[in-house]
Amino acid sequence: MRAAREAIAAGEAEQVDQIARRIGRELLTPVVNATGVLLHTNLGRAPLSHVSVATAQNLELDLETGKRGSRQTGVGSLLAAACGAEAALVVNNCSAGLLLVLSALAAGRGVAVSRGELVEIGGGFRVPDVMAQSGADLVEVGTTNRTRLADFARAASDHDLALTLHVHQSNYKIVGFTEAVSVAALATLDVPVVADIGSGLLDAACPWLDGPPPAWLADEPAAKQTLAAGASLVVFSGDKLLGGPQAGIIAGNAEMVRLCAAHPLARAVRPGGLVMGALQATALAYLQRDGDAIPFWRLAAASVGSLRARAEAIVAALPATVPVVSIVDTEAVPGGGTLPTVTIPSIGVRITGDHLDALRARDFPVIGRVIDDHTMLDLRSVAPKQDDELIAAVAALVDRS
Ligand SMILES: *Cc1c(COP(=O)(O)O)cnc(C)c1O
Repeated sequence: MRAAREAIAAGEAEQVDQIARRIGRELLTPVVNATGVLLHTNLGRAPLSHVSVATAQNLELDLETGKRGSRQTGVGSLLAAACGAEAALVVNNCSAGLLLVLSALAAGRGVAVSRGELVEIGGGFRVPDVMAQSGADLVEVGTTNRTRLADFARAASDHDLALTLHVHQSNYKIVGFTEAVSVAALATLDVPVVADIGSGLLDAACPWLDGPPPAWLADEPAAKQTLAAGASLVVFSGDKLLGGPQAGIIAGNAEMVRLCAAHPLARAVRPGGLVMGALQATALAYLQRDGDAIPFWRLAAASVGSLRARAEAIVAALPATVPVVSIVDTEAVPGGGTLPTVTIPSIGVRITGDHLDALRARDFPVIGRVIDDHTMLDLRSVAPKQDDELIAAVAALVDRS
């Protein structure tokens, strides 16, 4: 109907099919993420399966007492256990988490942040703006490239500080003549430390993986170790390295978490039952040390050998008339607020020429990238069960040429 109306309004009734197709393309649909960016914000970050039957659930009913309960109790305690926190609270995303923490714990008081960490995370989320929105007073400390503990100590004696804030350098890196203050050092001051770690790695030891932690995780802050280093609270995303649904998690000191939960904003940023259910499944997988149950970790932990075998099977399944496809070593990236210099060894299928538009135009869109004028389909970010879609898409390209 909308297509027909738009076509008539535009005086192009014969265009109705095209317009209907364009409108259809605005709807959410599964795609093959062959970009090599595992946590691609445009592609919904962590891949997630969720099946939810239409049923009532005990979202806010305490089954023991029959009285009103909290949607936070169960999931919050699972997440707290998984990262060694006293308590945890779930909100809509990490940005909302930081806003709630600052509003509940620091409105009308000072929050000290290094000038090297007054960042824009993306989409206009800027630390100074969030601070202003919360009613907390930003106390800038140190310089862009070098900040010392003494700078924070001076801020603590000159101002009424409610918190010090440590922000993970998610999307940039300061190199050269630099100095930064660790969470452990900040925690020696008599002011509670809040760490926005963004990326949501739960535990640097990765007990949910079979082998040792992958090398590419070496410099990522983890919730458990950041709390152990002395942070009173950590705030992180649910859909980055955690591999769950879009959510924000506030974890740490029980009294501070309680104050956040009691703040009026908490209700405005609380997730619905779908998200709580998906996050509960993710938290249980961590507690059962079952990384295989988390789609992101299945992708991230796949061996290069297994990716190469898949690439060979994909190329072998293509029509024999295809001289333009090759298998190459690539560097995938975790994405999702991990350090920009971090890469994961990977394997790609390279097709001569730029075919991004044709691949994206398919009913099951394939999203790749172009490197040196050629199309690269990186298998690190593709679930094996989508290899057939990839084959069909590439075969169709060749058929046309
Ligand atoms: C990604 C990120 C955020 C924003 O997280 P959302 O869940 O997208 O709101 C905030 N802080 C840091 C350090 C991040 O990396």
